[in-house]
Amino acid sequence: MATFSSRLSRQDTRKPSVFAGHHATVICNECNRSMVPRVVVYYGRPVKSVCPFCGATFTRFPSGLQQFSQRFSKKIVSFDAFKRIALVAAGFGLIWFLATMEIIPREMEALGIFGSIVFSAFGLAELFYQTIEFIAKQFSHNSRYYWSATALIAIMIMYVRDDLTRYVVIASFLMIVRSILAGFAVARSQSH
Ligand SMILES: [Zn+2]
Repeated sequence: MATFSSRLSRQDTRKPSVFAGHHATVICNECNRSMVPRVVVYYGRPVKSVCPFCGATFTRFPSGLQQFSQRFSKKIVSFDAFKRIALVAAGFGLIWFLATMEIIPREMEALGIFGSIVFSAFGLAELFYQTIEFIAKQFSHNSRYYWSATALIAIMIMYVRDDLTRYVVIASFLMIVRSILAGFAVARSQSH
């Protein structure tokens, strides 16, 4: 009996439902009848809700893939990732330095050189990306125009200076890999 009464009082103190005193109904856009939308489920996933009278679609639910791509393309303007990459690059730089000084085995030098070059390159790509996004945000501009201008400048450099083509290609490659890695990082952090 004690458990019953405690359960009852817990229910009583619960916040009242937003539908309390109202019917949880909506008006159909097609037939204008008051209705409770029926959810259409496809392989266990809600796809859309429809009017039970005329079958008109009331709401569409985003698919898992859509939700993922929304998260994937979400931008986070922050220099945190750059700081972390710079720290790793500095770590490899330290390995390089210590190996050169023969404080740690000389064989570690190649690892130190490789790591510091790769992480410095990605650090610069991340810094460049965040700087452009940061400037666009400061002026409340859509960064898409900034990136179009950057791409145009890159293409012009390739036409005018053949000797710089390979650097433009490497920079473009770094930016693409950076965006893929950042996309996965954001998508993963948002899904938890
Ligand atoms: Zn209807």
